[in-house]
Amino acid sequence: MDQMLPEDEVVRICQELIRFDTSNFGDGSGPGERAAAEYTAGLVEEVGLSAEIFEAAPGRASVVTRLAGEDPSAGALVVHGHLDVVPAQKADWSVDPFGGEEKDGLIWGRGAVDMKDMDAMILSVLRDFARTGRRPKRDLIFAFFADEEAGGNYGASWAVDNRPDLFEGATEAISEVGGFSATIGGQRAYLLQTAEKGLSWLRLVAHGRAGHGSQINTDNAVTRLARAVARIGDYQWPLELTETTRRFLDGVTELTGVEFDKDNPDILLKELGTVARFVGATLQNTANPTLLRSGYKHNVIPGTAEAFIDVRTLPGQEEQVLEIIRGLAGEGIDISYEHKDVSLEVPFAGNLVDAMVDALHAEDPGAKVLPYTLSGGTDNKSLSRLGITGYGFAPLQLPDELDFTGMFHGVDERVPAESLKFGSRVLGRLLASY
Ligand SMILES: [Zn+2]
Repeated sequence: MDQMLPEDEVVRICQELIRFDTSNFGDGSGPGERAAAEYTAGLVEEVGLSAEIFEAAPGRASVVTRLAGEDPSAGALVVHGHLDVVPAQKADWSVDPFGGEEKDGLIWGRGAVDMKDMDAMILSVLRDFARTGRRPKRDLIFAFFADEEAGGNYGASWAVDNRPDLFEGATEAISEVGGFSATIGGQRAYLLQTAEKGLSWLRLVAHGRAGHGSQINTDNAVTRLARAVARIGDYQWPLELTETTRRFLDGVTELTGVEFDKDNPDILLKELGTVARFVGATLQNTANPTLLRSGYKHNVIPGTAEAFIDVRTLPGQEEQVLEIIRGLAGEGIDISYEHKDVSLEVPFAGNLVDAMVDALHAEDPGAKVLPYTLSGGTDNKSLSRLGITGYGFAPLQLPDELDFTGMFHGVDERVPAESLKFGSRVLGRLLASY
């Protein structure tokens, strides 16, 4: 038999992974993760490596395996993905979301984009290392986490807190939501993720005087809260360019000839096509009221009223954003954190960045590579607590007409089989050379 290459099996692995329904409902249950973890560990063990399955709670299974490198003094690289997906409403899809079908050269199903595509690329490359007996330069730690779609409390975050030994010696990481191509100004550019916004899920509680709904009440908690929520929701956050965003926009200007106008960002954003969806929210902080709760009867004025605000902060701005929100909320409102996660910003420079760019260029000579900021988050947030510098690099060369960014958590997720093969070649080159 000819030697099996990563690109020969990456498509099959992606399809098989999609067929495990690993929907994460955010209720702590995570059905399906254990079966997907066993399948993943099986692929690792089949080629003679050992894999460890660990569970943060019954069924919340993640898989880790380590490939020893030639230079034990070189920092280890964590190559990670998540095995869970967001749920899918079957009726909204034109195919079975857990069928893993191949149709018109594309692999369809929940996770085809986020992120069983990259899981399959990682698995195909690590199996190739094992089959050929090649050793990487540095230790490679391959991790497939549970629960990313609910913040990682039963996955990466748990592992960082409870099993830091698994990441011993790791200095850098690569994972999802970066490395994909977009056509900008008629040219192909790859967006390498070097920053993630932080998140602050705030709870506002307004206090007032409880009483009868028929009486005059100048200290009504509902009224106070409503004013605060309106001020926060209406607030116009100024445009602020971080180092990453500035470099991204400069790159777009080079590709399109269109300058960035702070007073009219839409002109440049239009040049980005569907990628604008990813970029728009990274030019400013955001604070969206998402939930209101108060009262229990039509004729009773409650003593308290609460609102939840989903705040996403630019790197390094958590504190100042909180101060602005305190000011907007005003007197008589307590603010606390329901949940908080860090922002990240890492340099678009250094040996790993050079190696990622080189690996892309080997498969797509001359393509532009730009750093960008993700408005959401990845498991790199958790790994950063161990001092690990994380990048979003799941390389995919995509056809122009595919609305890739719109498919994250969207319907009819699909990825071209050729893109998966391309990705496994780029990832293979990166891990062999770095
Ligand atoms: Zn994801």
